[in-house]
Amino acid sequence: MKKKHFCIIGSPISHTLSPILHKFWFKKYNIDAEYGVEEPNDKNLKNIISKVREKKISGINVTLPFKQKIIPHLDKIINDAKETGSVNTVFLDRDDNVVGDNTDVFGIQAAYLKEILNESNNLRTMIMGAGGVAPSVIFALNKSNLNDITLVNRTHEKSLFLKKQFPVLKIERWENVQDICHKFDIIVNCTSLGLKEEKDLTIKLNKIKENAKYIDLIYNPLNTSTILHLKKMGIKTFNGLDMLIYQGQKSFFIWNKISPEINDDLISLLENNLKK
Ligand code: NDP
Repeated sequence: MKKKHFCIIGSPISHTLSPILHKFWFKKYNIDAEYGVEEPNDKNLKNIISKVREKKISGINVTLPFKQKIIPHLDKIINDAKETGSVNTVFLDRDDNVVGDNTDVFGIQAAYLKEILNESNNLRTMIMGAGGVAPSVIFALNKSNLNDITLVNRTHEKSLFLKKQFPVLKIERWENVQDICHKFDIIVNCTSLGLKEEKDLTIKLNKIKENAKYIDLIYNPLNTSTILHLKKMGIKTFNGLDMLIYQGQKSFFIWNKISPEINDDLISLLENNLKK
């Protein structure tokens, strides 16, 4: 059989772990495939999508800043991509349509919400950040019947914009986070604050409930300074690596019809790459 080609598109993209993740599974399941990294500009998005139509590329992962921008170039969007307006997985269907799906929603549910909801429901959530990933977080919470969601974002207008898409949202101002954080059972950091070589989140969340759960979507570093601070306070924290792995698992399934195993070897491989 012919070698398959997959890739991730984004900008910046050099630090992505997706090639390591998918190559690990290609090897495990004896799939003859490559997984590359592309940094297109807005103008070559169309070109990359035409390679899917021509069967030169079997699948694409999409990351920042293209999750919304890619949509006009696709024949259709389905499932959670339709609900969120955010695409992270592209493939060619049986009728030769180039299709966009979203596996981030599944990633969030499988990585965090499943475990948290095992313990209790009826929880109040605060989402910090209204960028590209926020609709997937909101929709994952909705799908898990967590509908008490407060959104805060530095640029307030972006919160108001998201409320049009998700009327269930309550909007608060970024400046109030410190004062209101004690009200929530789950706090999700969807900002880029804390990313390696970026600014840190300076809000210390000191008034957080003692049984609250803190989810940081950042996985590089694995422990942001906020995670370290909250761990010292005895708060249960989650980093972004599990979401990365689970969204990748579903993309892999969409492309290869195999639900690949997540095991300790894979997690160590990814963690070791983050230490480099
Ligand atoms: P975007 O660039 O679309 O959004 C960035 C967000 O960060 C915006 O809400 C922005 O606020 C906020 N922000 C940036 N700088 C500051 C600052 N100095 N002060 C306050 N807020 C700030 O990114 P995404 O939504 O795509 O991703 C957000 C984070 O989630 C990233 O760190 C990314 O790595 C992570 N992520 C992790 C995934 C995983 O699999 N674990 C998947 C997807 C994302 P404003 O609107 O005011 O600019």
